[in-house]
Formats: sequence, C-alpha cells, structure tokens
Amino acid sequence: MKDDLLDYLIATDSMDEFLGYEPKCPSCGNKLTPIEYGMPAPETFEKAEKGEVFLGGCTIEDIQPEYHCNNCRRSCFKNLNDYVDEENNWENEDE
Ligand SMILES: [Zn+2]
Repeated sequence: MKDDLLDYLIATDSMDEFLGYEPKCPSCGNKLTPIEYGMPAPETFEKAEKGEVFLGGCTIEDIQPEYHCNNCRRSCFKNLNDYVDEENNWENEDE
C-alpha cells in the first residue's frame, strides 16, 4: 500500500521495531495503545480505563485503525502513516 514506508523501514533497518509489540506514534513518539473491537469483556473495560487498550466500538470493518495515541487522540492504521483523528465519535456512540 505505502511503498514509501516499506522503503524507509528497509533503508533504516527498523522493520523489527515496526513489527514489534510497542509501536510508537509517528507524530509524538508516544507508545500506541492497541484498539480492541467488538463487544468488550469486563477485563477489557478495566484495561481501557487504565489506558492499556482503546475501545474501537462494536463495528468491525475490513479496514480500521489498529492503534490509538492517547496523546494525539489519533487512531493509526497498521501502516502507522495512515491515521484518523479521533473526534469522540466512538466514545459518544452509546449515549
Ligand atoms: Zn501521538
């Protein structure tokens, strides 16, 4: 999809980091939080309150963000160069 990123990862030998468990926000460098989709289990709610996961809502689509930056309030797709800004749409969904 984004050949630029792939080239960059290969050139800088940072593929392992990219594939690691702690992706960083491309904007602020903050550790990104994995986004959980679907109906959250009670322990998932607890994790979300601690900021360990971000609840993405019950809607599961083909392409959706994988990580959330609590600092930027921004959700990144697997390719971290693609993101959507969070405007509380999902958080207000159930109200
Ligand atoms: Zn950020």
